Order: sequence, then C-alpha cells, then structure tokens
Amino acid sequence: MRKIILGLFLLLFLATPALAELNVVATLPWIGSLAQTLGGDKITVTTLLKPNHDPHLVEAKPSMILAGRKADLIMYNGLDLEIGYLPLILESARNPRILPGQPGNFDCSRFVQAIDKPTAVDRGLGDVHPLGNPHYHFSPSNIKQVAAGMTDTLAAMDSANADYYRQNFKAFSTKFAQKEKEWQTLGLQGKRFVAYHKLFEYLAPGFGLAFVGYIEPKPGIPPSAAHVEGLIKGMRDNKPNGILTTNYYGKKESESIGEKSGVKVILLPGDVGSMAGTDDWFAFMDTVLTALK
Ligand SMILES: [Zn+2]
Repeated sequence: MRKIILGLFLLLFLATPALAELNVVATLPWIGSLAQTLGGDKITVTTLLKPNHDPHLVEAKPSMILAGRKADLIMYNGLDLEIGYLPLILESARNPRILPGQPGNFDCSRFVQAIDKPTAVDRGLGDVHPLGNPHYHFSPSNIKQVAAGMTDTLAAMDSANADYYRQNFKAFSTKFAQKEKEWQTLGLQGKRFVAYHKLFEYLAPGFGLAFVGYIEPKPGIPPSAAHVEGLIKGMRDNKPNGILTTNYYGKKESESIGEKSGVKVILLPGDVGSMAGTDDWFAFMDTVLTALK
C-alpha cells in the first residue's frame, strides 16, 4: 500500500512540469500567433478576438474575463486599441498576476516606435487613435522588437525553459531576415494608395509606399458625402494604384468609391487568420505585400 501511495505521489510529482505550461491570453490574433511561435508547446494561448473582428469595436464578454482570471500572462496591442474591453477584463478578472506593473501584463507597444502620434489629443473630435497609430503589426521592424520583448518575458517568467524560448526566437529571426530580403525585392516603392481606415499606415515607411487619401476623414469617423465627392475627384486626377481595405469593414464604401473613380479595390487581411493562407505573421505579411504588388 505504501509503495502504491509513494508511486502515485511520484507520478503526480513527475507529471507536474507538463501541467505547468504558461497560460497566455492574447487580445489580437497576431499577438496570439506570435506568442505561440515563440512559446511553442511550453505555453497555451487563448486569443480573445476572432480574425475578422473590427478590433476598435469590441466589448468585454464573460468568457474573456474568465480567460483573464486563469492567465499567467496577458499580451495586448496597447496604444489604446483595446480600451473598449481590456480595462474591464483586468478589473473583473481578480487576477493580480496580470495587473499593470506585473510581469504578467505585457503591452506589446512598449517595444514599438509608434507613428502618427498626435501633438494634441483630440479624442473629442472622434479620433480613435489618440496615442499614435496602433496598427503596427504591418511593420516588420516593430514586430521583430515585439518578438524579442516577448521572448525575454517568456524566458523570465519560465526560466526552466528560457533556452527553448531563445532558440525559437533565433529560428524566428532567421526566417525574418530571409523574408525581409524577399519583401524588399517586390518593388513596392513609390506606389500610391487610398485607404478606408489608417490601418496600413506602417507599410508606408516600411516599404516606401505613400497614402494619398483616406475614405474616413479621421480614424473612426464615417465619411460625409462631401468628403467622398472630394476624394473621388482627387482620385480621378492623381490615379492612385488602389484602394485598400479589409473584408470586414469599409468594404461597401470602398467598392462604391472604386467604381466611381475607376480605381481598383484591394482587400487585405486585417490580422493573422483573416484570409486563407495567413496562418502566422509571416504568411499574413506575404499575403498583404503580394496583394499590393
Ligand atoms: Zn484603427
């Protein structure tokens, strides 16, 4: 009997490391995907948003709060993109591990050089990007910094597997260098686009593109008839290479403006997993850049 109890005890003891995977909650699909790439089978990832959710218009759900309660680590985009639901999750989850200031509260934007930082905050005028443009997952240089920061955090929180995380980051960096070379040969420099929302802004400095107009007069503000009319007139004159939007918002408006101006509409994935063949961040960027080409 004692032997059996000892055996059971040992079994439980030995089984513990397998159960001790870090429980990571990610807000957006690209964050969950990147965490999984770096964390491999040493972490479990729960992603709160679906790939075709408009990330600006999300509300907290009980399932999100429950996920927050069990999390060792919450990873989020920051720059106020999750302002509609993340504060409520942090408050209601009653989980001190993921509160701001704790290692388990990982704001990806801490590793990012944000663009479009307004000189004066004018949320009163409806701008949904008061801290700068939050859509930096279209920016390879920023994503590499985020991946490095994620690796450091995973290694610090789970030091037994630190080497494993660092090795995964090394593999990520090797693929990154190879993809970066490929992407720079696509010849996107000098192309000019109109976008529905300021979603693709980071592609401009990253790949030498330019944005010559927006269907939304300000991020989050629907266009007036006068704004659309002025935009169409401008587009007939300066003939941009395309109108960029996603398949989940701004599609109808973009198609109507495309028809009237004679400019082609290009649908891009808004996040990892929102179109076929965008299963991880590399595949997502491949799809975006190939569509632009
Ligand atoms: Zn936005």
